Amino acid sequence: MKAVTELLETVRKYNSRVDIDRIRRAYDYGNKAHKGQWRKSGEAYFNHPLAVAEILTELRLDDATIITALLHDTIEDTNSSYKEIKLQFGDQIAKLVDGVTKLTNLELSSVKTKQAENFRKLLIAMSKDLRVLLVKLADRLHNMRTIKALPLSKQITKAKETMDIFAPLAGRMGIQSIREELEDLSFGVLNPDARNSIIRRFVILKNETGDIIPKIKQDILKELTNVGVAAHIEGREKRPYSIWKKMEEKREGFHRLSDIYGFRIITRTELDCYRALGAVHRRWRAVPGRFKDYISQPKSNGYRSIHTTVSGRDSKRVEVQIRTDEMHEVAESGVAAHWSYTDGEIFENPFAVDPFKWIRGLARDFEESANPDEFLENVKLEMFQDKVFCFTPKGEVIKLPRGATPIDFAYAIHTRIGDSCVGVKIDGQRKPLWTKLRNGQSVSIIRADGQLPQASWEELVITGRAKTAMRPLTGKMP
Ligand code: MN
Repeated sequence: MKAVTELLETVRKYNSRVDIDRIRRAYDYGNKAHKGQWRKSGEAYFNHPLAVAEILTELRLDDATIITALLHDTIEDTNSSYKEIKLQFGDQIAKLVDGVTKLTNLELSSVKTKQAENFRKLLIAMSKDLRVLLVKLADRLHNMRTIKALPLSKQITKAKETMDIFAPLAGRMGIQSIREELEDLSFGVLNPDARNSIIRRFVILKNETGDIIPKIKQDILKELTNVGVAAHIEGREKRPYSIWKKMEEKREGFHRLSDIYGFRIITRTELDCYRALGAVHRRWRAVPGRFKDYISQPKSNGYRSIHTTVSGRDSKRVEVQIRTDEMHEVAESGVAAHWSYTDGEIFENPFAVDPFKWIRGLARDFEESANPDEFLENVKLEMFQDKVFCFTPKGEVIKLPRGATPIDFAYAIHTRIGDSCVGVKIDGQRKPLWTKLRNGQSVSIIRADGQLPQASWEELVITGRAKTAMRPLTGKMP
């Protein structure tokens, strides 16, 4: 019974009013229900629900979520039933466990036509209570952490589904730590060679320069002290997947790619964020096109932070994120912050996004898109092999499907720009409009007022947005 004691101890640290008896009952119930069941790895099955509950304690979630985690596989995999869970733990828990079961049974990455329908079901399941999705994300995270026990073909299916659906969803929900870990674990399955080569480069780099993270931290701290800003600084190597993605975007080899370190400056006040930014930019040169102010323009999942990249020590690029403690909380737990506890009280964070509004926004985007499959393309954001990343003259990144042309690019920026497009410069050179864009190119659209889209463009475009604009010309239905 050591495990349940530890779990209760962890919960008590953030929620002093935890219902110990109820969690203990859920533990006993789950443990008994899964008795005699084993995971592919050979361990007792109940270790899995327990690990899922532990992941959720890191987000400091409420009793109902922790109990749901402990019971999440009982309706599916044991003799238990909805009725029995309801009898033992009440209506709310029964509904949550049932929601997780339904979510598990959706084949999210099946054939395309069914995918939109499945996503609609996913939305309905989530919209009743977003905690269902939180448990499902933790469930997927633990399954990905232990994926090596499965046969390779199954590993690949799961990893693809994780990369396509669950990692982007975690990102949209604003739970960045889970998003990053899901991506990196999937990357390890889908492209182990690439991941290993990045890790090897890290080892070589460390042998050459030593561990420079503490040195950079010291450098930053000194600048902040000089201007009287009190802050906590975190530094880390970025995960192999995010480094690899950057290499893909820029088509740069590892030796040229120097921004592999990420630092966070966590301040007490918003004003201090801007003072810290000033101190950093006065000391080190800012890298063009990398400055973003999500404090004055927060993301829809509540994310607030200042991002910049500077040329630091030995002209190594260093990415810096600057935010307050409260902004940091939201950046780590996203919409889950709504159910987070501190000192036995629901954690009130002025920046936390209302999960019900969040889900309504997602559902509205989905319903309003004329073509649900196209919407799914947007949800499956990060799938890499089939995407190219190009830059506007101002350095903004535009992401397009592979095979896209400058006309797709123009429509991706704005319909007006697409409509009035007459030519293009790629990396400063005039090119024909049928040129297929490649990763990392800088694309400048040449426009003329009064210009209309040409019917011949229909053969040149591949994105939904551009095709929609062609429709009135060709009279074709989508
Ligand atoms: Mn499970």
